[in-house]
Amino acid sequence: MADWPYNTRIWKRLRLAKLASDPGCYACELRGRFVPAVAVDHVKAIKAGGEPFPPLDGLMSLCERCHNEKTNAVDRPDRASTGRRFKGFDVNGNPIDPGDAWHGGGA
Ligand SMILES: [Zn+2]
Repeated sequence: MADWPYNTRIWKRLRLAKLASDPGCYACELRGRFVPAVAVDHVKAIKAGGEPFPPLDGLMSLCERCHNEKTNAVDRPDRASTGRRFKGFDVNGNPIDPGDAWHGGGA
């Protein structure tokens, strides 16, 4: 996680701006809970063609647990069977993962 672009000043500033704008965990909020976020992640992964420094809506604030969950699901190929970054569904019964096919597909 200490790799580019996360070790840059721009990223650190962007991360703080995102946490200031969205202090709650994105995935938990969809489940109807407010959990303070500690991590900021790309909605579209850089290796999938996402911008390294996207506008704030191209980022999501995550709590530690959801961030780990996403890292385990996506950043370890042997466990990426579903490609879903977050388990479960929001209060409307829709998949939480913004990269899920339901949301228009392709993270
Ligand atoms: Zn969370």
